Amino acid sequence: MTAPQRRAIQISGQVQGVGFRPFVYRLAVARRLSGFVRNDGAGVTIEIQGAPAALDDFLHALRQPPPLARIDALGISELTPHQLEPAFVIAASGAGAVSADITPDTAVCDDCLAELFDPGDRRYRYPFVNCTNCGPRYTITAALPYDRPNTSMAGFVLCRVCAREYHDPSDRRFHAQPNACPVCGPRLSLRDATGVPVDVDDVIAAALERLLAGEILAIKGLGGFHLVCDAQNAATVARLRQRKQRDAKPFAVMAANLASLARWVEGDETDWRRLTSPQRPIVLLRQGPDSDRSLPGIAPGLAHLGVMLPYTPLHYLLFHQAAGRSAGTAWLTQPQPLLLVMTSANPGGEPLVIDDDEATRRLQGIADGFVTHNRAILARCEDSVVTGHIFIRRARGHTPQAIRLPRAGPSTLALGGYLKNTLCLTRDDRAYLSPHIGSLDNAATCRALEEAMAHLQDILRIAPERVARDLHPDFPSSRLAAAYAAERNLPCIAVQHHHAHIAAIAAEHGLREPVLGLALDGVGLGTDGGIWGGELLWVDGAHFERLGHLRPLPLPGGDRAAREPWRLAVAVLHLLGRNAELDRRFGARAMVIQHMLERRINTPETSSAGRLFDAAAALLGVRETNDHEGQAAMELEALAHRHGLERPLAEGFVLHDDGVLDPLPLLATLAEGMEPGQGAACFHATLALALSEWLRWARDRTGLQQEVALGGGCFLNRLLSTQLQTRLETAGWRVSTARQAPPNDGGLSLGQAWVAMLAKLG
Ligand code: ZN
Ligand code: ZN
Ligand code: FE
Repeated sequence: MTAPQRRAIQISGQVQGVGFRPFVYRLAVARRLSGFVRNDGAGVTIEIQGAPAALDDFLHALRQPPPLARIDALGISELTPHQLEPAFVIAASGAGAVSADITPDTAVCDDCLAELFDPGDRRYRYPFVNCTNCGPRYTITAALPYDRPNTSMAGFVLCRVCAREYHDPSDRRFHAQPNACPVCGPRLSLRDATGVPVDVDDVIAAALERLLAGEILAIKGLGGFHLVCDAQNAATVARLRQRKQRDAKPFAVMAANLASLARWVEGDETDWRRLTSPQRPIVLLRQGPDSDRSLPGIAPGLAHLGVMLPYTPLHYLLFHQAAGRSAGTAWLTQPQPLLLVMTSANPGGEPLVIDDDEATRRLQGIADGFVTHNRAILARCEDSVVTGHIFIRRARGHTPQAIRLPRAGPSTLALGGYLKNTLCLTRDDRAYLSPHIGSLDNAATCRALEEAMAHLQDILRIAPERVARDLHPDFPSSRLAAAYAAERNLPCIAVQHHHAHIAAIAAEHGLREPVLGLALDGVGLGTDGGIWGGELLWVDGAHFERLGHLRPLPLPGGDRAAREPWRLAVAVLHLLGRNAELDRRFGARAMVIQHMLERRINTPETSSAGRLFDAAAALLGVRETNDHEGQAAMELEALAHRHGLERPLAEGFVLHDDGVLDPLPLLATLAEGMEPGQGAACFHATLALALSEWLRWARDRTGLQQEVALGGGCFLNRLLSTQLQTRLETAGWRVSTARQAPPNDGGLSLGQAWVAMLAKLG
């Protein structure tokens, strides 16, 4: 027999609070190895001893960690074997603060699903089944360390059987903080429209019955309440839309599985992988030929439909009920007819409802009933939304997963901008983005920003050394940043909006700088006090230069013009000297605008790319007013998709020596009475061509590498993104886009943090 060897193994990554130690324990015991595993400041340390072949085998197995674990680095060193070591143990945590980042919330795992639908299991149909590999984390945790007393499970005392699981290293629920069962854990309850509890035998059965009867229910999820109804009941969907006062914003839907989605949407391998990933985001997919007709009112006029799969046991139980409560898990792969609208319960654009009493109050008149439970939600977290590889909204399933920065720097708190806001905290080379918080146009969302800031600091234990904000001093986020910095005597760094958009991409990709940045966006305050939004930048860390911008368009009525694209159409026709057409196209109201334009009354200018899309949409007669931000642009994209490819207009733009890109000739052509689909396709193709020419000009002027970062909300437009990227890559460019954070203002705080970290303070 060969002499035993002993090795020390240091592992860093996401290895704490994810069942890593019991995993190591099981591997060691199965191979009759001795030693120990423990958490420490750097991650996990293992000392392991036994026959060399068994050790190699152990190391090999270690490379396949449990689902929620991620190994970033693994170091091995040889040690002198110990005499007489009886067994392998899980040792008490070692020196150094335990650095366990709290993991994101995760969809219920297959093992737990098997129990959920096994009539013989003690957790059969128990809506709170979870284990070390799945379930709630971020949304139930108030502070570090991640132990039950710091979670909303604190009030539930583990029963004897659950406690045994919790303390048994060979059990899947070893140290699973939210562990629970029907005897000792949280319970569901049903309430009527006024919040009074309804006595029913079976909440799931009653809830499904109400949904199928056309009711709208508010259902408590992981990070907040959803408003839920039968997506195939047009009358109910219309009622929900009317009650939510949401004129045209699309609703997301949930189906039991991929097989059930085939009827409604088209997607590829990437999409199916995203949908079934443990993060379970809402994925925007092309609507099938049938779905706009058979799902009226869900995503009116749009090319895409937001879909997701169940992620809590409660979701699964609703589909299980609809499938006739069949035993076992075979039904989970079969097509199921039930399709549910699942939309965030955030009336009036205010923050997501998370609390039971709040739900009754704020959802009065919207929900016909409530399905709730007594496990509190401690942190608001909306569903994440993705399109292809791009985040539209990064929240549940991803918060508070760190984004790796190119290098370490001072801890920074960045408070973002105004629309679709998030905040960001950094430590060393990690950036932690808050979940999507919302637009700071109401007091409740501003309060939610402060709450998210406090919560993120509590669960990360970061004391920032620097604070970053937008250049606009009057945003609520800017004021909060300034006050926070002043109270603690910290430097507060103002970061230009589009600089931040490009910096966010530089940060996540570790770009060699200086780099060219193309920011196509709604609006952001420029360093010259102007309203920017279509910017070509030279970016070098904390510095940037504006190389060029889109030709500014007048905004008659200021912000109102962003909600009323027809005003931009009038402005464009006016610029083109085509005042004679105004009355015919837009009626008497256009005369008022013409007057404003001539006298320059309340008519600021903007280089915004978003407004360019609005102008094109209005000139083509696609949409004259926006019910929600970006609506006209989204419809323009949908039309272009349906139409198919068009040739770009080589004469559609003029590139001036001073870096101004003028797309007015293109707009003039669209206004000639082009068919809307053809016009939309032509607009996208020409814009892609113009932008690539613009970048070539900038490279020639600066002598920089053929490397560019594309940022800003317009890059959520997949047609524009694809066409521009294809052009650039064919021409040999290296193109970086937002992958780990949204390209829109949801990623702004990440860029602000990175700029502030790099800033040299005098
Ligand atoms: Zn599980
Ligand atoms: Zn129990
Ligand atoms: Fe922006």
